[in-house]
Amino acid sequence: MSIVLTELTRRFDDVPVVNHISLEIRDGELFVLLGGSGSGKSTLLRLIAGLLEPDEGRIELDGKDVTWLPPQARGVGFVFQNYSIFRHMTAAQNIEFGLRIRGVPKANRSQRVEELLELVGLSGLGARYPDQLSGGQQQRVALARALAYHPAVLLLDEPFGALDVKIRVQMRQSLKEIQRRLKVTTILVTHDQEEAFELGDRVGVIERGHLIEVGSPEALYHYPRTEFVATFIGGGNVLVGRAIAGQIQLGSVTLPLPANAPRHDEGAPVRILFRPESVLLRAEPFDARCDIHVLGQGQIRERVFAGSLQRLRLEVEGLRGVRPVAPLPVYGQHTTLIEAVQPSEEGHLDCYAPGQRLWLGIQTYHVLEPTGLKILICAGESPDMNAAAEYGCRLAQAAQGPATLLAVAESDSAIALARDRVEELRQRWLVQLPRLETRVRQGAIADEILLEAQEGHYELVVLGRTPTPHQMDLEPVARHLLEWIELPVLLVPQPRSPIERMLICTAAGEPGKSDVLFGGRLARRLGAFVTVLHVLRSQAPQEERARAERHLRRAQASLEALGVRCQIKVKEEPALQHILSEAESGDYDLIVIGAPGPRAPYQFRQSDMATQIITSTTRPVLVVPLVE
Ligand code: ADP
Ligand code: MG
Repeated sequence: MSIVLTELTRRFDDVPVVNHISLEIRDGELFVLLGGSGSGKSTLLRLIAGLLEPDEGRIELDGKDVTWLPPQARGVGFVFQNYSIFRHMTAAQNIEFGLRIRGVPKANRSQRVEELLELVGLSGLGARYPDQLSGGQQQRVALARALAYHPAVLLLDEPFGALDVKIRVQMRQSLKEIQRRLKVTTILVTHDQEEAFELGDRVGVIERGHLIEVGSPEALYHYPRTEFVATFIGGGNVLVGRAIAGQIQLGSVTLPLPANAPRHDEGAPVRILFRPESVLLRAEPFDARCDIHVLGQGQIRERVFAGSLQRLRLEVEGLRGVRPVAPLPVYGQHTTLIEAVQPSEEGHLDCYAPGQRLWLGIQTYHVLEPTGLKILICAGESPDMNAAAEYGCRLAQAAQGPATLLAVAESDSAIALARDRVEELRQRWLVQLPRLETRVRQGAIADEILLEAQEGHYELVVLGRTPTPHQMDLEPVARHLLEWIELPVLLVPQPRSPIERMLICTAAGEPGKSDVLFGGRLARRLGAFVTVLHVLRSQAPQEERARAERHLRRAQASLEALGVRCQIKVKEEPALQHILSEAESGDYDLIVIGAPGPRAPYQFRQSDMATQIITSTTRPVLVVPLVE
């Protein structure tokens, strides 16, 4: 019997615990629903069983709408994690109970009980009471009872969760055999990836009420679409590079962007996945003629003996500056760690001792789908900060990317307040931004924002500012953040939205590329019109003018390639005055500028152009660091 769920939704206290889930399960399929604790697995199963009513959506069994039918009218068998059989009945009586309440005549019942006991491997044990049976045997009784009246659908909620590892493996095997034999459509819920892979014809990964991906175990392992599944399932290396001219730039390493990879904007982050077992390690450099993608030379930092395998972590020089998503980097760590596994052959242990230097290569890698702009929204305490956080939420909605609200508590006693602050905002945006996440951290504000930005792989940080009139310098938090962060930061003194007009102030040449590309990507998402403004030095020599012209032509071409409407303007010094007057006369909603200097710590001195622009306007300013 097929199961079809359409936009199924269930809320508790307004919070969607099952969130618009649509899914088709084929007749006879063993479908596994995999997710962490609290992800909504049990709730979904209870909805299908009829033990809980949905707020929205439809459930069809075998083409028939059963959304509002009571459980007993659905033909569903249910097994729970905790042995739910009756303590005062023998195994046989427990199984027979299911038949009796469904009106099966007594004469047929005992024969059926014997069949079922045999089916679940408990022949001869029918007279035993639950306390004379092991945990595994009790679950077999529960399974037999669920199967007693030939259900069309079998629902199992972490049925082996309370059992020892060894018993669990045996139970999986039995379940698979029984399910194959009876061809009963089955949904099994688990948080155990190994169990999901071993049992599932297909696996659906659920997180916070959303069904993130569905596929065969092999497809989910090798070709996940999302970062969540790539890192949730199995050990994996996920690195973030950048799409540049049809290639993936990863530090000093360039990899081809495969033709079948999802489309990436120029300059957009590209996340690639490769599993530890596909990392090749050699003492000598790879032969240039073989089709191995060389990641560079690395040093073994860690080795863990795991029986048949040894797990290695290597620090790779060529990937300096590349942001790893997994394994999770440590704050302040600037080298990239790669995980590899090697068979634990005796006699070969020395080649993989910590400190050894080896060449690393990969034969294949998989490109994940781009996420859309991932935004970190800082929610400060003051009303200005709050307005900026609201603005960040509107921006996230318009940019259609994932977003996180962060509140930093400077002391223990401020944690509860910080939590309330982000929770209140989240509630207000629940409908528009159902996947808005919240985070509360404790410590120094700028440091904690930096930590969160690094750990969470955001692409943009939104920070409020409290502009004080005639203040010529940045306030300490904004300054510290701008000095150290290697991400674009949107400083918001007074929110202006929607963002329809953007002014990108660009230097010529290499440093100007980042602000044009990032500004362009943002403009594309928001559908904004862009003016690119370049200010020439007065009496600039001819070659400098020619360089600026080339840069602006390329800027225009890049923006047009992104589908962004734009115009170019060139002025002559004084720069600050032109930038500010253009911002006012053109009534721009956002000013984009480059960060001063090639790398952190960026210098935001009072005399710098960047600092002066930021402190002289009440319009939001986006500061984009140079990406090398
Ligand atoms: P899982 O089975 O994946 O661990 P559940 O479906 O049991 O998750 O629950 C998901 C979330 O839904 C829980 O974290 C809890 O917050 C909420 N929830 C579940 N059942 C109820 C309930 N009866 N009342 C209120 N909240 C509930
Ligand atoms: Mg559960």
